[in-house]
Amino acid sequence: MEINRSRLLETFIDLVRIPSNSFNERAVADYIKDELSLFGYTVEEDNAGEELGGNSGNLLIRVPATADGKGLKKLLIGAHMDTVEDGIHHVEPVVDDAGNIRSAGDTIVGADDKTGVSIIMEMLRKISEEKIPHGELLITFTIAEEKEARGVQEIPAELYKGFDAGIALDHSNPDSIIVGAPAKIAILITIHGVGGHAAFPEQRINAAQVLARTVSRLPSKRLDEFSTANLGIMHSGTAINVIPGKAYAEYELRSHNEDLLDFHLTRTLATIESTVREARLYISDSNKGGIGDDNSDECPIRKATVEVDVVSCYESYRLDDDSAPVTILKNAITKSGLEFKSIIAQGGSDANILNARGLPSAVLGCGMHGVHGTTERANLDEMVKCAEILLRALGE
Ligand SMILES: [Zn+2]
Repeated sequence: MEINRSRLLETFIDLVRIPSNSFNERAVADYIKDELSLFGYTVEEDNAGEELGGNSGNLLIRVPATADGKGLKKLLIGAHMDTVEDGIHHVEPVVDDAGNIRSAGDTIVGADDKTGVSIIMEMLRKISEEKIPHGELLITFTIAEEKEARGVQEIPAELYKGFDAGIALDHSNPDSIIVGAPAKIAILITIHGVGGHAAFPEQRINAAQVLARTVSRLPSKRLDEFSTANLGIMHSGTAINVIPGKAYAEYELRSHNEDLLDFHLTRTLATIESTVREARLYISDSNKGGIGDDNSDECPIRKATVEVDVVSCYESYRLDDDSAPVTILKNAITKSGLEFKSIIAQGGSDANILNARGLPSAVLGCGMHGVHGTTERANLDEMVKCAEILLRALGE
């Protein structure tokens, strides 16, 4: 089962030249459909794009078991079509002598996850060309993985009911698989103050300042052995001479331990509420008035208010050593001559969703490195190895 190295490289190069930031996966989806139809595959597209506001749905390929593969494992094998925001820029890939593919300009290359997509496409071509035995397969090319794995959430679990394992290609070295990942919660904070003209600060509550005070009391660091917190986004204000009436922030919590996640969430919400509650002022006769003051007689107390939206992005998972994805991939990796490693990730992926929905799923390394930045690269040797491992996994 020798992998067609040049065809794999060619597919990868084609894919990275097509911009496909999240919710803009249309052109990549069309490329995959065209290419795989040449090999006799029927590529279905669901309506996840319409549901989530993107221009493409998830692609699904149901491959029935071969006549000689009835006893083999039923597998879901997937990769995501979208890239982070930098992927909207034109990517010009450059290949060096060591088989590394990088971007020539100051963009990502899109190895995350176009290594995975091109490897799965190569696997499908090999299956069709060489009549390789396999059990029932569901191939998923998802949208919006970089947006809290929202695309895969649109795929009904009935489609992989009774399957043995899920394998997501979305990680670095092909000798290693991810067997555990944290849960993540996004906390969206909107603070309403009392805005107005900067020259008349009396009776106003500056929402930007209330937000600043609030987030300064929220830790943005490692919280414990299992958990981290991060303040990712803050927005407020329209002009230097305007007191902002509204301010917005996004804060995330992630943890491998759901109890600790609950604990940190409770503490976070209490901190937000108590800090915002401090922002109130009493309207006395001495600070009444001022240009643009329209409702100073209504109530002697003015206060900031806050809306908090808590969004559970995905749940954590931890696979047992004897679970199907671990044993299948361990055998396939070992038989490919590599030393098997299992690792715990700090980020989520489509596998978090599949595990939460009852399909034990691991993430296999597929040759991407330095992802989400301009130093990102793909390694062709590792991609070839990953394709080989994947083909072996079909027979485990
Ligand atoms: Zn990825």
